[in-house]
Amino acid sequence: MKKLIIIKYGEMTTKKDNIGLFLRTLKDNITQALVKEEVNIIYDTGRMFLYCNQNNFDKVVEKLQCIFGIHEIIIGYELDDHNQKRIEDALKVMIQNITFNTFKVETKRSNKNYPLKSPEISKRLGGLVLKEKTGTSVDVHHPEVTIHVEIRLEKAYLYIEKRKGLGGYPVGTLGKGLLMLSGGIDSPVAGYLTMKRGVKIEAIYFESPPHTSQEAKNKVQSLAKILKKYQNTCVLHIVNFTEIQESIYKNIPHEYLITIMRRMMYRISERIAKQRKCKIIVNGESIGQVASQTLTSMNAINQVVQIPVIRPLACFDKLEIIKLAEKIGTYQTSILPYEDCCTIFVPEHPIINPEIKKCEEFEKCFPYEELIKEAIEQHEIVHIEKEESIYNDLL
Ligand code: ATP
Ligand code: MG
Repeated sequence: MKKLIIIKYGEMTTKKDNIGLFLRTLKDNITQALVKEEVNIIYDTGRMFLYCNQNNFDKVVEKLQCIFGIHEIIIGYELDDHNQKRIEDALKVMIQNITFNTFKVETKRSNKNYPLKSPEISKRLGGLVLKEKTGTSVDVHHPEVTIHVEIRLEKAYLYIEKRKGLGGYPVGTLGKGLLMLSGGIDSPVAGYLTMKRGVKIEAIYFESPPHTSQEAKNKVQSLAKILKKYQNTCVLHIVNFTEIQESIYKNIPHEYLITIMRRMMYRISERIAKQRKCKIIVNGESIGQVASQTLTSMNAINQVVQIPVIRPLACFDKLEIIKLAEKIGTYQTSILPYEDCCTIFVPEHPIINPEIKKCEEFEKCFPYEELIKEAIEQHEIVHIEKEESIYNDLL
């Protein structure tokens, strides 16, 4: 008998014609994440089977828990045939080192030629457990331990341990998006939710040195590194926004500073998205959170781009967002106290109902097209490297 990891798929099992693409992508993503672990992967439309070095199980499972498209991770045993005696021996080994008071055996039999029916198999194996583990009893409703037995066409599987996967679609199956990544709490969470839907993320960060610090930039890079562990690699675009921001500050009535600044960010993001073949912009806006996120503001800002802007957090409240940020491991980094360019140039009374006509009028006051072109041409592209240590630090 072989110890192995069995993966049950997430939502993609509902795909019919292109299930092959989803499964191949999931396999590729797993292979890339586990490149150092020497894992052999076999799959069909029902399950993925991972054979790895016996000493690596914990590390492999930890990494699998960061991969979208996985519904459940099961550590179990595989038998090359259905011989009852061998199933019983395997069961004995499996329960040897675990203690429990109540249990149940659940059997699935996809091989309909097998001589015993599922309830009979469960009953026999249950009897064996009662004999091996004195003092235990069967509880079919709330057992401490459920022993699963699957009789497939040629092989049989036994398992107890199950861990929840992240669900969603494998990253890359739905194309690419450009995430506006600031140093705040919201945007990394927006990125995570988008990756969960199978979209690979590249990130864009606007910095305004010397008004924003190197620490603020490092913080965004750290956030990109954390997000990278959910998609193996991550490209970060860093755009120097200083000249644009200073021109806005000099030429635009201060109540419109943020509105115009965000229109510039959107314009630049759209162009870089197109260059990089990203089909959407993603950001961490949430309705009503600040003046630039009223419905009127969102309209005035969105008006300068054609590309769809996805706002996964549009209807989340801040506490829900914080909870998710904690879960995905970005919260502690996001609350580090370095200012980003938005917070430095915030006027005392930003407008909550900006008029599009006025935005267009004000923007005539400075040569923003030239400045945008220059910022795009000179922007820095960082390939966030694969660092083994990040898994250890963050999990
Ligand atoms: P907070 O958690 O404090 O709200 P935030 O990052 O959401 O931080 P907002 O001012 O609410 O900050 O900005 C709304 C969205 O605009 C962000 O979620 C992010 O997607 C984008 N954004 C803001 N500032 C930047 C920046 N400097 N670079 C890239 N994107 C930015
Ligand atoms: Mg926000």
